[in-house]
Amino acid sequence: MKKEKTVQGIGVSAGVIRGKAYLFDPEEARVKPRRLPKASLSAEVERFQQALIAARKELLEMQRDIAQRLGRSESDLFEAHLLVVEDRTLIEEVIRGVEEKGLNVEYVFQQAIKKYERVFSQIENDYIRERLSDIKDVAKRVMRHLTGKTRRDLSSLTEEVIVISRDISPSDTVLMHKENVIGFATDIGGRTSHTAIMARSLGIPAVVGLGKISSLVATGDELVVDGGRGLVVINPSRNTLKKLEAEKRSIALFEKRLRLLKDLPAETRDGFRVILAANIEMPEDLPSVLSHGAEGIGLYRTEFLYLNRDDLPSEEEQFQAYRGVAEKAGPHSVIIRTLDLGGDKFLSPLGVPGELNPFLGWRGIRFCLERRDIFRAQLRAILRASANRKVKVMFPMVCAAGELRAARAILKKVMGELEREKIPFNPAIEVGVMIEVPSAALTADIMAPEVDFFSIGTNDLIQYALAVDRVNEKIAHLYQPLHPAVLRLIEETVSAAHRRHIWVGMCGEMAGDLLSVPILLGMGIDELSVSPMLVPEVKKLIRSLDLTEARRLTERALRFSSARRIENESRRLIKKAAPMLLRRESIRL
Ligand code: PEP
Ligand code: MG
Repeated sequence: MKKEKTVQGIGVSAGVIRGKAYLFDPEEARVKPRRLPKASLSAEVERFQQALIAARKELLEMQRDIAQRLGRSESDLFEAHLLVVEDRTLIEEVIRGVEEKGLNVEYVFQQAIKKYERVFSQIENDYIRERLSDIKDVAKRVMRHLTGKTRRDLSSLTEEVIVISRDISPSDTVLMHKENVIGFATDIGGRTSHTAIMARSLGIPAVVGLGKISSLVATGDELVVDGGRGLVVINPSRNTLKKLEAEKRSIALFEKRLRLLKDLPAETRDGFRVILAANIEMPEDLPSVLSHGAEGIGLYRTEFLYLNRDDLPSEEEQFQAYRGVAEKAGPHSVIIRTLDLGGDKFLSPLGVPGELNPFLGWRGIRFCLERRDIFRAQLRAILRASANRKVKVMFPMVCAAGELRAARAILKKVMGELEREKIPFNPAIEVGVMIEVPSAALTADIMAPEVDFFSIGTNDLIQYALAVDRVNEKIAHLYQPLHPAVLRLIEETVSAAHRRHIWVGMCGEMAGDLLSVPILLGMGIDELSVSPMLVPEVKKLIRSLDLTEARRLTERALRFSSARRIENESRRLIKKAAPMLLRRESIRL
């Protein structure tokens, strides 16, 4: 029996899980675009033709073999696969792609297949779904002939695993096969990286910042991941497994008790009502929003529509996605945030050059104000989705009123276009701005008269205010939501909003941090938007608190000199109001 070893990291998504490790190397899995000299393009096309011929030959042989062993009707299954390798539209699209873009065929072929997957997966029809799985199977076969090896990315896993990697990017996370990735653990990363945020959305236990986990673990090793405590146990002993079962039972009981609150409002004992919404990255996250009893979507991160593809999503594709989300979230509203490219999210088709400081670089609204073609298409889609639906729009990474005005001017122009084209939209759509840069918080009073709402993005606000990179595990202890400087920026923003009679919400991860909730209530925040999984806990806490007490705590907290003191006071209040939340150790208290 191998010896048990425990590694401590940063727990980013609560829950405990036991399973087999799968060592993932993103570099190996990724098919990278390679520019080819013009002279070798015809050889590249020839390589593709040969891979198709080889795949076709294999399929015909398999068909013959099955027909002999099981009969004709069973072998008919392969007809559908053969149709894919003979599909002229697909073949011509790939050849054209290679010739026009001058890129390697593996990359062009993979992008073409992804496009099919996207289109087909939007159609709710069993026949089409089966066809999609034929396409994926055949694509794997052709790809194997092209690259000469079996490629495994996170979408092609066939059994339940815990993914172990040095790092996983937000784009890799999107590809994770939801049934088969039951947890993950990485060497690097921080609590508010988009990968961590995705883990919470998927509801799978995850630990980041483990240092060397990827060199300690081999594929197939037995593991336990405790996403609440931030632990990974390699080769767990019988005793550890027994504890794991007990922990699982207690979590199940805790969740059952919280489920009773699902349809109750997020209201303090003395009647202060907060809107408790949820954040989503993809339309697939919606069922979790609804089942956890959130009141709509406080942040829809639209950039995930743009990741893992070679082209940009069309206006129509975006419209379908936004409309779908708005319809399913009804009667509650959806706040659609315009594209926030950059930081730790990059788009392959745009060829954006690497930057030394991506979080301080060409991201969010800065990018959209330059790439107006992309921005306009998105605004058109959002506006179209707003017709007779509760859709709001907000702009990310605004640093000054000038940027807000420029964005609003484009929005107005797009409205004019739609009006002329007689395309319906809501002309009174609520427009908000994210307050996630200290300069925006400090000029909130200037921006307040020009918007309908503020949404405080603490993930960025904290990293910029404290100069602490949100994805760097080495300085994770310095990333403090309750740092007095952060509290002052938030307080400034909330009071500027209320002086101008607009509402103010928070969609950064701090909104779901139990130690911060009493203080945010005390400031009079109107909406909290959190990861869907956290809605029940946050609601339980709000319903256990008194606004008067929360206000008293906030007043004192604003005078304290350290985050630690504020945390201790807040913990004391929670212990008194909702001790059940403390019993679950997976919560950061
Ligand atoms: C934030 O910065 O708090 C936020 C909600 O936006 P994102 O995490 O997508 O940067
Ligand atoms: Mg942000």
